[in-house]
Amino acid sequence: MAVVIDLSTRSRLAAIVGEAHLLSDPGALDAYGVDALGKGHAADLVVLPGTTLEIAAIARLCNDQRIPLVVRGAGTGYTGGAVPTSGGVVLSMERLNRILEIDETNLLAVVEPNVITGDLQRAVEAVGLFYPPDPASLDRSSIGGNVAECAGGPRAFKYGTTKHYVLALEAVLPTGEIVRTGSKAVKNVVGYDLTHLLVGSEGTLAIITKITLRLVPKPPAQATLLATFDSIQGAVDAVSALIARRVVPAAVELIDKDSLDAVHAHTGEAIVPAGTTAVLIVESDGTPAAVEEEIARVEEACRATGAAAVTRAATTADRHRIWAVRRQVSLALNAAELRKVNHDVVVPRGRVPQLFAVVAALKQEYRLRIASFGHAGDGNIHVNLMVDASDVEELARAKQAERILFERVVALEGSISGEHGIGFAKKPYIALELSADEIALMKRVKAAFDPNDILNPGKIFP
Ligand SMILES: Cc1cc2nc3c(=O)[nH]c(=O)nc-3n(C[C@H](O)[C@H](O)[C@H](O)COP(=O)(O)OP(=O)(O)OC[C@H]3O[C@@H](n4cnc5c(N)ncnc54)[C@H](O)[C@@H]3O)c2cc1C
Repeated sequence: MAVVIDLSTRSRLAAIVGEAHLLSDPGALDAYGVDALGKGHAADLVVLPGTTLEIAAIARLCNDQRIPLVVRGAGTGYTGGAVPTSGGVVLSMERLNRILEIDETNLLAVVEPNVITGDLQRAVEAVGLFYPPDPASLDRSSIGGNVAECAGGPRAFKYGTTKHYVLALEAVLPTGEIVRTGSKAVKNVVGYDLTHLLVGSEGTLAIITKITLRLVPKPPAQATLLATFDSIQGAVDAVSALIARRVVPAAVELIDKDSLDAVHAHTGEAIVPAGTTAVLIVESDGTPAAVEEEIARVEEACRATGAAAVTRAATTADRHRIWAVRRQVSLALNAAELRKVNHDVVVPRGRVPQLFAVVAALKQEYRLRIASFGHAGDGNIHVNLMVDASDVEELARAKQAERILFERVVALEGSISGEHGIGFAKKPYIALELSADEIALMKRVKAAFDPNDILNPGKIFP
């Protein structure tokens, strides 16, 4: 669907942001109409605001004219959240990209939304502080996008996800009001917790324009270990053994054989010995003594569950090499000839073995190639159905397998999305997890924020 933005509306938008900050050439409309899901819809106009006041004026104008308005961070989302499926204006936040404050006394940072996650991490680490959320996309994704999706990452096992670090927000409502939620204090219980209502709201409730984030002291020591297994069961058992030993490392990542093969094909490097069917990457952090004690227990748990080899990173370069394997997995699967249909299901952490049993059964029942990897420590596994896009019959089997996967995950008391959100890609499935009453309540919340349904319409709800 295309939306007609008439000349008068276009000139009013130009008066707000300046003509140079409007993009309407076909190349830009296409480029800003797609995210990492790869199923786009061209925008009718792209607007690049520079201030909160400009955003408020744009929202008021779009609301008055009933023009769909879709916020875009860095466009790395996996569920089409930033795609303007109803056309209209894409509001790209790319000019709001400054770290405004790193407050070493109060352990917090104040940032504009389009600061790149990895840049913030490096900036705070330079003064001995630490921002733990670390999506694998951290060198491209924005903090605003991370907040809107409640991004997770390998370190969620020990440190939690983005929501655990958001103290306060400045946001523009779709009707143009500017609101400030939360505060710089670590405790705040006045009124409803609007901050955490906006976290994970996928750009459907408000446009986030400023973010105050909690920081923690940078752990003084880290140790990283790579364990190889000749069965996926061994790796899964090692995760259970860690939990049984009450070990909570900073990260526990599992990569299966199909994913390792994809990295091998993509990079040309034999990253693990032949015969390896799964690897675990485990990282401990803390004081040097605590790290040494913890990583020794991890090593022992891996050996007890049949690890073929356990290698500790001896240098920082080794550590980066190990993590590079993990960070390459998504890119390698994306680059494969087969189409990757990516799911980020999550189960209670003790049920990871059952989740892998579900995946094994789906492979057989639906004759599909499925590459699985992810945050085994917190039960969040990326299950990627690898399909031949030209094979209609295989695509149909994958569609059936997708629904069965979600049904079985919900039966395991898990969730159909641990971190990528719903966007438009997963909205047909939310009723598997949420009751009709819960969906109706969420729709009433949406209507309270956005009475005319202009902000990111057509997302989350079927
Ligand atoms: C290779 C790769 C690896 C990934 N690994 C992970 C991972 O480990 N963990 C994880 O959680 N995700 C991961 N992702 C998914 C993605 O990076 C995250 O969802 C990320 O948070 C999206 O940020 P973004 O800036 O790209 O947002 P976008 O894709 O631009 O937008 C995502 C959603 O947020 C909304 N939004 C963006 N900015 C704002 C704002 N300022 N105000 C209001 N709404 C806004 C948009 O409207 C949209 O609905 C990965 C993606 C890729 C491509």
